[in-house]
Amino acid sequence: MGIANSSAGIIEIGVNKNEGDFSVALAGNPNVGKSTVFNALTGMNQHTGNWPGKTVSCATGFFRGRERGYVMVDIPGTYSLMAHSAEEEVARNYLCFGEPDAVVVVCDATCLERNMNLVLQTLEVADNVIVCVNLMDEAARKGISVDLGLLSERLGVPVVGTQARKKKSLAPLVEALDRAPESRKPFKIKYSSAIEEAIAAVEPAVSRRAAGKINSRWLSLRLLDADEALKKEISDYLGADFFDMPELRLALVKAREILDKAGISDSGICDEVVSGLVSAAEDICRGAVKGSGEYCAADRRLDRLLTSRLTGYPVMILLLIFIFWLTVTGANYPSELLSGFLFGLQDKLYGLSASAGAPQWLCESLIMGVYRVLAWVVSVMLPPMAIFFPLFTLLEDSGYLPRIAYNLDKPFRLCDACGKQALTMCMGFGCNAAGIIGCRIIDSPRERLLAVLTNSLVPCNGRFPTMILIITIFFIGTAGGALSSVLAAAALTGVILLGVLMTFAATKLLSKTVLKGVASSFTLELPSYRRPQFAKTLVRSIFDRTLFVLGRAAAVAAPAGLVIWLAANVSVAGATLIEHISGFLDPFARLMGLDGVILMAFILGFPANEIVIPIILMAYSALGSLPELGSAADIGAVFAQNGWTRATALCVILFSLMHWPCSTTLITIKKETGSLKYAFLAAALPTAMGIIACIAVTEIARVTGFA
Ligand code: GDP
Repeated sequence: MGIANSSAGIIEIGVNKNEGDFSVALAGNPNVGKSTVFNALTGMNQHTGNWPGKTVSCATGFFRGRERGYVMVDIPGTYSLMAHSAEEEVARNYLCFGEPDAVVVVCDATCLERNMNLVLQTLEVADNVIVCVNLMDEAARKGISVDLGLLSERLGVPVVGTQARKKKSLAPLVEALDRAPESRKPFKIKYSSAIEEAIAAVEPAVSRRAAGKINSRWLSLRLLDADEALKKEISDYLGADFFDMPELRLALVKAREILDKAGISDSGICDEVVSGLVSAAEDICRGAVKGSGEYCAADRRLDRLLTSRLTGYPVMILLLIFIFWLTVTGANYPSELLSGFLFGLQDKLYGLSASAGAPQWLCESLIMGVYRVLAWVVSVMLPPMAIFFPLFTLLEDSGYLPRIAYNLDKPFRLCDACGKQALTMCMGFGCNAAGIIGCRIIDSPRERLLAVLTNSLVPCNGRFPTMILIITIFFIGTAGGALSSVLAAAALTGVILLGVLMTFAATKLLSKTVLKGVASSFTLELPSYRRPQFAKTLVRSIFDRTLFVLGRAAAVAAPAGLVIWLAANVSVAGATLIEHISGFLDPFARLMGLDGVILMAFILGFPANEIVIPIILMAYSALGSLPELGSAADIGAVFAQNGWTRATALCVILFSLMHWPCSTTLITIKKETGSLKYAFLAAALPTAMGIIACIAVTEIARVTGFA
């Protein structure tokens, strides 16, 4: 059985809710520690539930209190329930129509008054609310004290203080849930007399149909200024004929008359509601929250360094070089060890399968095809990912990513886009598909599309190893040494900066053509810095990101290995399939400074970018299988034998940076935009840019004699 009113078509989720269990919605502003509370209570037992017709997903998990079991639904972080964005709409719909047995609103103790907005709105819709004031340790560090008892008295609901990183501190929250529902009188905002009168005029008609299902005072207020999306949700929930009820129609006309008499327009209602919320939040927090809610001095100093005009960009670039330097140097040794081990195992496996009586073609295809490509992918990808992802997660946890968005807001604005695109671009470094899902944080549909269509112009983790390898072989040298690793990191940073520049160019081009419009305004919150948890970050990024991405790459690489082995070994009309395909592509590829084999490898690498180099090597090999290549120098020798120059290497890097996204990313784009046309555009745009760049480099190289 799914939980939470699946009959009303609100939500279907995979966690079973047994008789007597409570469904608990976990609400809160973004970044207040909601997921931390959720994971601590449910033991990271997440299930993802899809909202029908919605793209935003919610995590669900189970935990047991002393009184009963709880199915917890982690709804998207949101500042209000006025539904300005997809996340807010999902959150509002679940709180209003999902019929949770209890709602926990998680708040940030360091800026409680701002969080109170959501608390007060939740009190308007839900009956059984518990306020969880999290980040109490951060508040104490900043000299802020919170009187939980006084808050609870004023709000009329239980208020508990927590420090979600410490699981033990969540005990009072579970106790409060166990005690629920407590019979208290929750605080309700009082609006101006005209609005109160209008609500009173509508409420009787509403409660006839909504009683027991939804808070009729809240619904009456929403009906006074209801937007179309909300009206649809209401009629889905209460029945299509709800708005046709004669007494409701009459009541709404009467309410409008009352409001007209007081000179309150539709947007005027919204303004009054917002100012009512703001002043109520002030009243509730007055005297209950003491100390400065402002950034502490150290945070401000750090912000000056990381976001000022003079130092913001240099620090960002140095940090990027440092991260890549750590990745390049740290990955070298384990990569060599792994490849030595895995390729060493290959002969043993071959011997074993031969002695088990397997026919030669089977041994060859499985070991020289499937196993070799897999061994390559694991040994080349695993070490850099295992270093890059934790470093990236540390940046994410510390609060630096929003500062990057702040720094890049201006250039994005110049391209008529939104600064939040910088955040989704950063997520693309890990995996473009993740970056594209991340674009949901951008509210304006036009700007969200701009971010989606240009995301693959920053290289994902599947493309880093290719770039690092080629930079090392052709531009730095394979002799090793501290200097060469710094140079390799700087060159890789250069390639990434080029990707960022291309993102600006493509964004500008799109916003001047197919996606015309002006940049919308948005507020970007700069959260206070938090000390990351190193051990947890390491574990989380290894399991959630590294192994996940590696598993996906391996799943693609194994069948691809088989296909490539077959193509390299099956002959038609005196030549292998690979020779036929690469021969066909060769003339066009030469125009781009590549050759037929390289272009074919990019095409066959459509399922996952990380298999491009193995395909190139396998195709070059006269044996029709991946040669045994321990070091970058060996690979460089194979490239040189096949006519690669530095101009070829540069074109491969450029085309790797700018070509169609991998299949997973394209499927994600199709899902997120709901349009094949946009998925096609997302592939065509970077590919056209890549082709133009490669042809330009080839021509310049020809004229200048660069090789
Ligand atoms: P969400 O966006 O609301 O889900 O927030 P997260 O659960 O992702 O937490 C945001 C950041 O705050 C993470 O780096 C957490 O480790 C950190 N965090 C969460 N709760 C606490 C807390 O009580 N104290 C401290 N110091 N950090 C916390």
